[in-house]
Amino acid sequence: MTTLAEALARGTRDGELYDVLPDGRLRCYACGHCCPLPDGAIGVCKVRFNEGGRLRVPWGYVGGVQCDPIEKKPFFHAYPGALAYSFGMLGCDLHCGYCQNWVTSQALRDPAAIAPPIQASPESMVRDAVRLGARVIVSTYNEPLITSEWAVAVFKEARAAGLVTGFVSNGNGTPQVLEYLRPWVDLYKVDLKSFDDRHYRQLGGRLEPILDTIRRLHAMGFWMEIVTLLIPGFNDSPDELTRLTEFIASVSPDVPWHVTAFHGDYKMTDPQNTTAAMLAAAAEAGRAAGLRHVYAGNLPGAVGTLENTHCAACRETLIARFGYQIRDYRITPDGRCPKCATLVPGRWSTQFDGQLASRPFAPGSRSRLPLLHLS
Ligand code: SF4
Repeated sequence: MTTLAEALARGTRDGELYDVLPDGRLRCYACGHCCPLPDGAIGVCKVRFNEGGRLRVPWGYVGGVQCDPIEKKPFFHAYPGALAYSFGMLGCDLHCGYCQNWVTSQALRDPAAIAPPIQASPESMVRDAVRLGARVIVSTYNEPLITSEWAVAVFKEARAAGLVTGFVSNGNGTPQVLEYLRPWVDLYKVDLKSFDDRHYRQLGGRLEPILDTIRRLHAMGFWMEIVTLLIPGFNDSPDELTRLTEFIASVSPDVPWHVTAFHGDYKMTDPQNTTAAMLAAAAEAGRAAGLRHVYAGNLPGAVGTLENTHCAACRETLIARFGYQIRDYRITPDGRCPKCATLVPGRWSTQFDGQLASRPFAPGSRSRLPLLHLS
C-alpha cells in the first residue's frame, strides 16, 4: 500500500526558492527554517526535499478546499462580505499542540492525521471559484509558505480571472519568499502566536523571523491583518500582550489586530477556554498600545462592539458584525467614514455587494449562491 509520504513525494516538481551552497547542499528559503538539505534529505516541513541536487516541492494536489466568508480568515478590512475560495495542501513548518487544522497541517508527522491528497490544477480551482461567485482565493489550512510555488501557480491563474489573492500564514517567512510572493499575493494574514521566543520554540519555530516578516509585509505593501489566539496560561500575561501589541503598533497603528478565543483542540486540551472578559482585557491592552482597529473573535455576540469596525477618529460604527455575518455596512465608495470622512485603512470595494455566505461550505454542496441581504 502507498503511504502518504510516498504519495506526496510523487506530487512534486522542481522548486524555485533555493540556492546551492558551496558544499553542494541546497538552502531552501520558503520558510524561516532555511533548511540546508544534503542530497536525499527532507526539510522540517516534511514536504520539500533534495533529490539528486534538485529541490522537489509540492505540486498538483490539495489537502482540502472550502468556501469561507472572508471574515473567517479573518480579514475584516478587505472586501467585506466576499466569498473566499480557500485551499490548502499538506504539512507545516511548525507543530503547534493546539492546531485547529492539524488533520492537514500535521498529516506527515502524526499517523492520526489522515488527509489524503486530492489531485487539482490551478485552472480547475479557479474555474470552481468563479462558478461559486468567489471574489478572493486564499491559500490556507496548512502553512502556505512551504507550498509557495503551487500557490503562485494558482494565483497567476486567479489574477487572470480577476480574483484577489491571499495567504493565511504563521508568518515564518524569509526575505526571499516574500519577494517571490509580492507580485501575486494581495492579502496576508499573520498568526502572531506569542511574543516570547521560548513559546515559539515549543511550537517548533523562533520569534524573530516572524517579527521580521511582519515588518517586511507592511513595508512591501501587502494588506496585512494579524491574529493572536489567546490561550490562558500560554500567551495571555499582561506584560506579553503589551509587548506584542506595542510591536504591532510600531509597525503601524493601522494594522488590524484580532484577538481570538481558544478552545481545547488536538494535543492542547488542558488550558481553560478563553472567556469574553479575557478577550476584552486583551483588546484593551491593544488599544492602550495605540492600535486603532482591535477585534475580538470566536465568541459571536459575547464581546460587545469588539466585532464591529469603528472609525478611528470619531468612533462611528462603520461595519456591524455578528460572527462572520455582516449586519450593517457604511463605508463610503472611496473608503472613508461617512460621518467625518476619515480614511479607513484597508482594501475596499467601491460598493458593498452583499454577502454570499456567512458560514463555510464545501464547494460541491452548492451551485452559485443567492446574495444574503443585510438584516
Ligand atoms: S519550507 Fe521551511 S521547513 Fe520546509 S524545507 Fe524549506 S526551509 Fe525547511
